[in-house]
Amino acid sequence: MPAPAGLGIEVLSVPEGTPVELDLRLEAVLEGVLVTGTVSAGLAGECVRCLDELSDIVETTFQELYVYDDAAHDDPDADEESDVRRLEDDLVDLEPVLRDSVVLALPFQPLCSQDCPGLCPECGAHLADDPEHSHEAPIDPRWAGLAALQEDESTVQHDPES
Ligand SMILES: [Zn+2]
Ligand SMILES: [Zn+2]
Repeated sequence: MPAPAGLGIEVLSVPEGTPVELDLRLEAVLEGVLVTGTVSAGLAGECVRCLDELSDIVETTFQELYVYDDAAHDDPDADEESDVRRLEDDLVDLEPVLRDSVVLALPFQPLCSQDCPGLCPECGAHLADDPEHSHEAPIDPRWAGLAALQEDESTVQHDPES
């Protein structure tokens, strides 16, 4: 099926309209229909450190019970607020389940590579392209006092007992 809009998180998602592969098993059970499935799809997003575009795939599984939508099968003890999923005219609405399982399977902070060095905090340079990148860092005047303090500390003789 083509991916619905917004399948994923802000920094990583299945582009709308791209193919999502579903493998589903529908089983009749006492209360309704049990849907078990796997989903796989391509992802596009950006690295949270260096903002490079990245692509990945997501593959995950889900299982959800869709209960019959009629009074005869209503559990009188069921909480009105419970988010039980119901068959609607003998159809299952897979989209919310799909969305939840895909979002849960995504990394919170997608990275182009685990050791992505990101961007230079001073000038925004792309550090992976420029590993030798450095600045003739003039010490920010606000920190100059601290640096002097640090020098003092490194010359302090430590008590050998401690
Ligand atoms: Zn990166
Ligand atoms: Zn820089």
